[in-house]
Amino acid sequence: MKTVYLDNNATTRVAPEVVEAMLPYLTELYGNPSSMHSFGGQVGKKIRESREAVAALIGAHPDEILFTSCGTESDNAAIRSALTAHPGKRHVLTSRVEHPAVKAFCAHLASEGYRVTEVPVDGEGRLDMDFYRRSLTVDTAIVSLMWANNETGVIFPVEKAAEMARSKGILFHSDAVQAVGKIPIDMSRNSIDMLSLSGHKLHAPKGIGVLYVRRGTKFHPFLIGGHQEKGRRGGTENTPSIIALGKASELSLANMEEENTRVARLRDRLEQELLARIPGSRVNGDRSNRLPNTTNISFEFVEGESILLMMNEFGICASSGSACTSGSLQPSHVLRAMGVPFTMAHGSIRFSLSIYTTDEEIDFVIEKLPPIIELLRSMSPYWKTANPACATDSYSS
Ligand code: PLP
Repeated sequence: MKTVYLDNNATTRVAPEVVEAMLPYLTELYGNPSSMHSFGGQVGKKIRESREAVAALIGAHPDEILFTSCGTESDNAAIRSALTAHPGKRHVLTSRVEHPAVKAFCAHLASEGYRVTEVPVDGEGRLDMDFYRRSLTVDTAIVSLMWANNETGVIFPVEKAAEMARSKGILFHSDAVQAVGKIPIDMSRNSIDMLSLSGHKLHAPKGIGVLYVRRGTKFHPFLIGGHQEKGRRGGTENTPSIIALGKASELSLANMEEENTRVARLRDRLEQELLARIPGSRVNGDRSNRLPNTTNISFEFVEGESILLMMNEFGICASSGSACTSGSLQPSHVLRAMGVPFTMAHGSIRFSLSIYTTDEEIDFVIEKLPPIIELLRSMSPYWKTANPACATDSYSS
């Protein structure tokens, strides 16, 4: 069975060119980049080139690129560094819809005695900028706001928010894990102090991330050990993955135009066809300001996890906005923050495309999903009660 992979916000396929670029560093070129001998030195040179490629992708200087193990580490390191740099400040400002890499870390900080404020969003997932402005205080050590939401794709006005923070002398971090590689980012034209990205969201392997740290920003290492990364992160470099990320960054830059045109068109077609064919469906999030590859669609009165399981039978991979935790299906914190009604939030599916997604794959989902929803609804007492005219016990394809 063919796999139709529409779960690229969870992780992406490693590009064949990336595999080719990293392979020699898993086999014959295994030297330690810190070694004095030229066998290691040649690897060090390649790491410098990768740093330049990542910097070029986000309009940064190579010395502002700090390689980490993942997006989560980058997020944690940025926030912890700001708190260490400003020991007198005890307030962290973030949003209600952050990824757990920020949200759970902030909850941990709250348990350590820090004050954490989460800025709310409206029904479209847009940040409440008035609330944000009012929450910037003299006690705020750092703001951490995501560039784009992983579940809905909604883009936050982080550049404007960063300017507001800077005018009050407050550090600003953005979790751009979902945004980098999908939309243009130019750090030379904004006032964001730190920014996180993750390799496995842009066709590099899992386990490699970057923290961008603007020149002049005081940085306190999260991992303390050797002198690697100019003393800003101890630990022998993950050489093959760093080289992979350099290659993936080059490809992302070259493919950005396609991501924003062909992929967006495929996403829009999928969305429009599903909405037209499936009654009781809606898109979650601001459709006018989203990542080009993401759509989050709710199907009323069906469980997201049941939809996923049935799509899985056809090889279709996506994600649901609810997670089965301790026996109860809770809609995601993102959809709850947006106030999506429970019967809708419960049946939400995130489809996230990539440059490898084809027209045929989108056609396949458009063909297979409507009968799946119809079948599941035929078994749903809530759907039958809410829509007596639609109640049917037979599966029609
Ligand atoms: N931030 C966002 C917005 C994400 O979507 C993810 C991963 O899904 C992360 C952070 C964590 O990245 P990593 O898996 O590299 O730790």
